[in-house]
Amino acid sequence: MNSHLRPIPADFYAFDTGQPFTRCLVCKADLLTGEVDYFIEKAIRNYPEHKVTDVVYEYALCWHCARDMNGKMSTESQQNMQDYFSRQHFFRQKLATYNNLWPSLNGSYVPDQCVITGQPRANLEEYMIYGHFRGDSMVVSSMPFLLSSQAMDEVSELLSRKTIEELDGFMGEYFGGPPELEELWKPRRPVFF
Ligand SMILES: [Zn+2]
Repeated sequence: MNSHLRPIPADFYAFDTGQPFTRCLVCKADLLTGEVDYFIEKAIRNYPEHKVTDVVYEYALCWHCARDMNGKMSTESQQNMQDYFSRQHFFRQKLATYNNLWPSLNGSYVPDQCVITGQPRANLEEYMIYGHFRGDSMVVSSMPFLLSSQAMDEVSELLSRKTIEELDGFMGEYFGGPPELEELWKPRRPVFF
């Protein structure tokens, strides 16, 4: 087995099919051929008292479309995000330990705590997971990671008005629908890296 590729954890399967994502949300490229790397983002809501989890939104984006989205982020937003992440000590420590962690693991890895705040996943009402994939595998890298809703809110506040409008346009185009649904995702804007 290629040491840089691991099986895709079920946490990153598409909710509807219970199988890996097959298409890029935007350009519809076939992701399972392995010709182009892709990223998956899922926002999840936890109802611990009912032992239920719900997917607020989820998508796979090929490398090209992710790069296009990144390019739409304003310079101000990009700078703010860079500054923010370089200030996060827990995050920096976590990245440093990833390199040691991977070789010691047999299979895949799904983070069990927020990469910014360290809050355990089981205690979070809402969080997002993000990972890097190739074909039917997960790519070993500084991902996947998990962001608590608290960290997501902090990141949202770093974005310029222009970037927020871009992201709202993106989400509206692909996930728009009843106002109740928009209320769910509006405060939880996706994070592109
Ligand atoms: Zn694409």
